[in-house]
Amino acid sequence: LLRAVGVRKRFGSTEVLRGIDLSVRKGQVVCLLGPSGAGKSTFLRCVNRLETIDGGQVWVDGEPIGFRLHKGKLHELSEREVAGQRRDIGMVFQRFNLFAHRTVLENVIEGPVRVRGIGAGEATETAMSLLARVGLADRAGDRPGRLSGGQQQRVAIARALAMKPKLMLFDEPTSALDPELVGEVLEVMTALAAEGMTMVVVTHEMGFAREVADEIVFMADGAVVETGPPDEVLTAPRHERTRQFLARIL
Ligand code: ATP
Ligand code: MG
Repeated sequence: LLRAVGVRKRFGSTEVLRGIDLSVRKGQVVCLLGPSGAGKSTFLRCVNRLETIDGGQVWVDGEPIGFRLHKGKLHELSEREVAGQRRDIGMVFQRFNLFAHRTVLENVIEGPVRVRGIGAGEATETAMSLLARVGLADRAGDRPGRLSGGQQQRVAIARALAMKPKLMLFDEPTSALDPELVGEVLEVMTALAAEGMTMVVVTHEMGFAREVADEIVFMADGAVVETGPPDEVLTAPRHERTRQFLARIL
């Protein structure tokens, strides 16, 4: 469902991504690990084209992101057209970025109503079932500020899901949370994975990575160092760089 081939990104003279290859099949969960500055966030931002890329190509569900394939050639899309592609890719960040002055329900229906043109009635129905799924149906009328960090992050996940994405990207969704709130967010993500959502998750939660990931991708210095199933990469890493990282984090 997601295929990144040779993705390169530079900021000024620094090459932050030095040719990233990564494939995720439909329904698979890939956890992206690596030290600070490895380029994990930048890579996610390149997948949904919040960043343009300097080389390589990203394909989501057979579509080249940022381009249209016509008669065997790639034609660059306008910013508006890219926004259209981006709708199919849900993203959840470390910080929840909810609209503070709107209720939880309004936060969740905003995208479907404004961007997808879905009627308020239908959007509300979908939103309420999503809020029930993340255990927050009873908080629909509250402002986000009245919720705990873990609850706000669950609302952010419901909001992303309301757009019916094909692919979900998570960038350290629990690292801004108090330790006791991490579990409830990981539970929602685990359930989502079990339901067959295709996910790329940047995380330092090794328990989650071990249990939920189909594949681990370890990145350092803008490159993929090694990939494999969790019981290989996390238990018996082949590369010294991975070993050092795991020794520090576990
Ligand atoms: P962390 O674990 O700290 O979140 P990361 O793996 O997500 O790290 P990135 O945020 O992708 O790393 O950053 C990779 C490198 O790119 C860093 O050296 C960072 O300083 C640089 N970088 C990221 N965004 C920009 C930008 N907009 N302009 C210039 N440099 C940037
Ligand atoms: Mg990051």
